[in-house]
Amino acid sequence: MAAEVGKKYVIIGNGIAGTTCAQELRKSDPACDIWLITNEPYPLYNRVSLPRFLQGAIPEERVMIRNFEWHVQQRITLITETLVTRVDTAGRAVYLEKGGPLPYDALLIATGGWANPLRVPGAAGTNRIYNFVTLDDTKDLIAAALESKHAVTSGGSFIAYELTEGFNKRGVHVTWLMRGPYWLRTILDEEGGRLIDEIATHHGVEVVHGEELREVVPAGGIPHHVISSTGKEYPAEVIGVGLGLTLNHAFLADTPIERKTGVVVNQYLETNIPGVYSAGDLAEFYDTMIGHHHTMGTWDNALAHGKIAAANMAGGHEPYFDVPTYTSPLFDTNIAVMGIAESNNPDLTSVSRTMPGDKGGKDYRKFFFMGNRLVGAVFIGSPKGRKKVVELIRTGAEYATPADRDGLFAVR
Ligand SMILES: Cc1cc2nc3c(=O)[nH]c(=O)nc-3n(C[C@H](O)[C@H](O)[C@H](O)COP(=O)(O)OP(=O)(O)OC[C@H]3O[C@@H](n4cnc5c(N)ncnc54)[C@H](O)[C@@H]3O)c2cc1C
Repeated sequence: MAAEVGKKYVIIGNGIAGTTCAQELRKSDPACDIWLITNEPYPLYNRVSLPRFLQGAIPEERVMIRNFEWHVQQRITLITETLVTRVDTAGRAVYLEKGGPLPYDALLIATGGWANPLRVPGAAGTNRIYNFVTLDDTKDLIAAALESKHAVTSGGSFIAYELTEGFNKRGVHVTWLMRGPYWLRTILDEEGGRLIDEIATHHGVEVVHGEELREVVPAGGIPHHVISSTGKEYPAEVIGVGLGLTLNHAFLADTPIERKTGVVVNQYLETNIPGVYSAGDLAEFYDTMIGHHHTMGTWDNALAHGKIAAANMAGGHEPYFDVPTYTSPLFDTNIAVMGIAESNNPDLTSVSRTMPGDKGGKDYRKFFFMGNRLVGAVFIGSPKGRKKVVELIRTGAEYATPADRDGLFAVR
């Protein structure tokens, strides 16, 4: 459906969800006004490439996706280094810490999340303790890694893993502390977790389970060592923490926009307030694939959300339906997470197995079912068969018997 001429669109957050939305709005309506606002100093860059930048595998230029000129050509007004502090849904205006207010006909909120900081004795006021979310975090991490011999990483998340590999590839000895018995507790199981430990240990990482980082002991303003929950000491001149994200909707506190973990939207990505949409990591969206709301922190999901939000902000009525996929290198192997892969979801059952891999390593595969329907999968090792499995998830293929489920391990 064609958009109204001269419509005003405001997009908060210039990540992949927000920038894609701006680009699609411009395509569908040459006459509209688009404001894209971010507190960061950069146009869109690829967060998924930050781990490879940290490792030294690619230069900073390869992380950037857009430049400022592109926004000028697209007539998208990009406002950087500016926080949105308030939204007035009754007056349809967005308030900025500097300038504004900006009036809107339709608003997209795609502000993602900010990393949870390390809050233990000795952390406050000590330098070289980093989260890993932004390009600036990555530049700081690289500078610190180049001056360090020992690092401690903390957490059982993807980000903790990426930090561990990044320091390791920079030649820094890494001790990786994880409270739980294995990595990615919400997706894997003990067997898959053990395989990850084997891969990291093989590359020289000291993997420690059942211990949390309890205290930082600094010397000269930077870490000297850390003390774990069992009282053990590990040397570290730099610390990387992957303790999860807090989704950024505090600035909506005095609005009637429904929020839970994220900003709650329907399958059209619209909130309970007409004309206000949310997308990407922040959106707690109604997923027609599984019949309930959830958030999803993946690049492909944020990109696809950006497109659907644009179509609907411009007057369309397109539901979101996709099989989200997350792929990432793991030292010299890979992990792929497809669809809904939640070990802690009581509505799902799963089967998993570790098998000999093609190139002498090991392949781990886990499949998730809702009732008899295949809804998700995890592959560690060879990605062969990934596309077929995504298609089986997309089409709602059913696996009623153990023999049927067993057959999935042979999909290549
Ligand atoms: C290190 C790292 C590695 C990753 N690797 C992978 C991977 O391998 N595969 C994968 O699928 N996904 C990966 N992800 C996740 C993926 O990058 C995210 O899911 C995706 O970038 C989310 O995009 P988004 O547009 O929703 O939000 P974001 O990219 O988070 O963008 C939101 C923007 O809004 C800004 N903002 C927040 N609040 C305000 C405010 N009040 N006013 C103005 N601006 C504001 C933020 O600063 C940010 O710039 C990785 C993430 C990280 C950090």
